[in-house]
Amino acid sequence: MDDEVRRHKYTLDEDQMPTAWYNIIPDLPAPPPPPLHPGTMEPVGPEDLAPLFPMALIEQEVSGERYIDIPGGVLDVYRQWRPTPLFRAHRLEQALGTPARIYYKYEGVSPAGSHKPNTAVPQAYYNKAEGVKKLTTETGAGQWGTALAFATALYDMECEVWQVGASYDAKPYRRLMIEAFGGQVHRSPSDLTEVGRMLGANPANESGSLGIAISEAVEVAAQNPDVRYALGSVLNHVLLHQTVIGEEALLQLEQAGDTPTLIVGCTGGGSNFAGLSFPFLREKMAGRISPWILAAEPASCPSLTHGTYAYDFGDTAGMTPLMKMHTLGHDFVPDPIHAGGLRYHGMAPLISHVYELGLMDAESVPQTECFAAAVQFARTEGIVPAPEPTHAIALAIREALKAKETGEETVILTALCGHGHFDLAAYDDYLNGRMVDEAVSDERFAAALATLPEVPVG
Ligand SMILES: *Cc1c(COP(=O)(O)O)cnc(C)c1O
Repeated sequence: MDDEVRRHKYTLDEDQMPTAWYNIIPDLPAPPPPPLHPGTMEPVGPEDLAPLFPMALIEQEVSGERYIDIPGGVLDVYRQWRPTPLFRAHRLEQALGTPARIYYKYEGVSPAGSHKPNTAVPQAYYNKAEGVKKLTTETGAGQWGTALAFATALYDMECEVWQVGASYDAKPYRRLMIEAFGGQVHRSPSDLTEVGRMLGANPANESGSLGIAISEAVEVAAQNPDVRYALGSVLNHVLLHQTVIGEEALLQLEQAGDTPTLIVGCTGGGSNFAGLSFPFLREKMAGRISPWILAAEPASCPSLTHGTYAYDFGDTAGMTPLMKMHTLGHDFVPDPIHAGGLRYHGMAPLISHVYELGLMDAESVPQTECFAAAVQFARTEGIVPAPEPTHAIALAIREALKAKETGEETVILTALCGHGHFDLAAYDDYLNGRMVDEAVSDERFAAALATLPEVPVG
């Protein structure tokens, strides 16, 4: 060991930063099913989406181009924190006593502390170019709200954020960071919107959910011509923007002279996972590498492993187009686990499609296992992870321990998609024995699925 130089960190020069986003759709054996208009049940057209999104993003949403150039103005902003580092987790490997090699791509170095600015910046950029004055959005963990407030500040736009109630109460510092960037924050459900007043009247909705907060932000954008809506995950264009993560990681692993056998990432709406894995999936489909691609989701909100693949609304009030996706039902309100960014009832239609095609797998993890992994990671690697990527770290550790048993060559790559500096209340709960794993009852799963919209077959 000692006679070889142990590199911990793989960096890229600025001029090695990718200049195009990768769109996986043309490389897939079949295209994903289109979103449907809930009134006509016909595929939605650009004009249906125009009240919510700028044309440039609608074009990216339906694009069949394999590569889409990143505008120079966006690259300039990316350079503030990109390329992000790839680390080899030598000390974690040592603590586990595993022969597996573990790499993590660290997105916590961004201004918001997560991967979210990778898409917040281009979304604000394209809206600004089309004359939009204000963006509305939801935020779960507060990461997306922070990223969008940062991005809108750069382009001198306003930003109004509906923060999921449970997260608003638990994470006052996230709200303050959004406000420091100039954003305005409301606790969701709020009494500022019709859907907020309606859904807020039901005590079961007190802690809020991403689905409810989305309904509120969409309502305000749809009613105002100068206002558009921005989504931090789920949609094709968001996944597209995140592919800078995987493109950089490909180059960094080349530097390391290593090839991953397992790519594991956490999935809330699926964007950081797609961003990391799609460039590797392109290489896999071309026959150059053969990693196992694995999504890690919370046991209390398991849309891939426990959901149904069906058309459903993206929000709780049923205002969005119907998307074919793995869903727990748009009425499902997950337990207020600490990984707020993973509390979404559905999964990106594109990830759901890739999953249905058999190109990836998924496993769910209870949150106490996640935090045990998080603490072990922090004590060896020196970074306190956000609660969301602890799901991927937990699965990485499971697999690294298996490699110890089997002796099989295992090279793990994961995205450490954010730091947990604003999530210390979750660590407080874990470290002081207050964290519990509550199983979701079959009745609760069944009740939420019973309200799936009816879509004619064919
Ligand atoms: C938002 C967020 C997530 C969940 O969103 P994905 O689209 O699934 O990536 C996960 N981790 C962090 C740190 C987040 O901020």
